Amino acid sequence: MRPKLNTMRLTENVEMLEVKLPNGGIYHPTLTWDATHLVLFDTGTPDAVPYFINAIKAAGFNPKDLTDIILTHQDLDHIGGTLDLLKMAPNAKVYAYEVDAPFIEGKEMPTKLARQEQRLKSGEITETDPFYHFLKEGFSKVYLTVDVKLSDNEALDFCGGITTIFTPGHTPGHATFYLNSSKLMICGDAANVEANKLIGSNPAMTWDNEQAEQSLAKIKSYNLNGAICFHTGFLKL
Ligand SMILES: [Zn+2]
Repeated sequence: MRPKLNTMRLTENVEMLEVKLPNGGIYHPTLTWDATHLVLFDTGTPDAVPYFINAIKAAGFNPKDLTDIILTHQDLDHIGGTLDLLKMAPNAKVYAYEVDAPFIEGKEMPTKLARQEQRLKSGEITETDPFYHFLKEGFSKVYLTVDVKLSDNEALDFCGGITTIFTPGHTPGHATFYLNSSKLMICGDAANVEANKLIGSNPAMTWDNEQAEQSLAKIKSYNLNGAICFHTGFLKL
């Protein structure tokens, strides 16, 4: 069955995409744009790329026109489609927070893979463990160069202004992005929507729960019209 495509226009230059995978997975990447930029936040797992392309087209854009790809953090389901999208838009610049960049570039072992390697060492899992295999295989094919390594409060001067906010916890170098003109927050996995409320990173998938809680409080301290969470979608505030 072909997954149904949905996109949600939040403001005149912000669109939340809904990327549904045949395995039931669902992602909410965001597009924002101005006269000279087309920006995508997060790229999904490698197998999701065809669905990303369809969703970008459903929103009225061409993936070839991407000028900037901003990655909220190092996880495979956020960086995995980047190389394939760069084949279509080879001049697009890739951004990530400076702390997570070495993991995305393969200079350090990604946090989630390192945790599985530990479990393997302690005998908790074997090499045939499906999640271990998925991460090990997946990451080996998607490491990429981060063109712009961002720091806290760094301002990007396109699409009405985008502010980088360091929100560690889910991973050591997770960042969220505040769209200055629309007052929308691109939360990645630092927040989730549940029962019409903004909650934190899923504890089972979190590197440091204490930092994650502080990061959620930081996100909530901004003057927000809404929050976009990669796995759980949009919350109007
Ligand atoms: Zn995720």
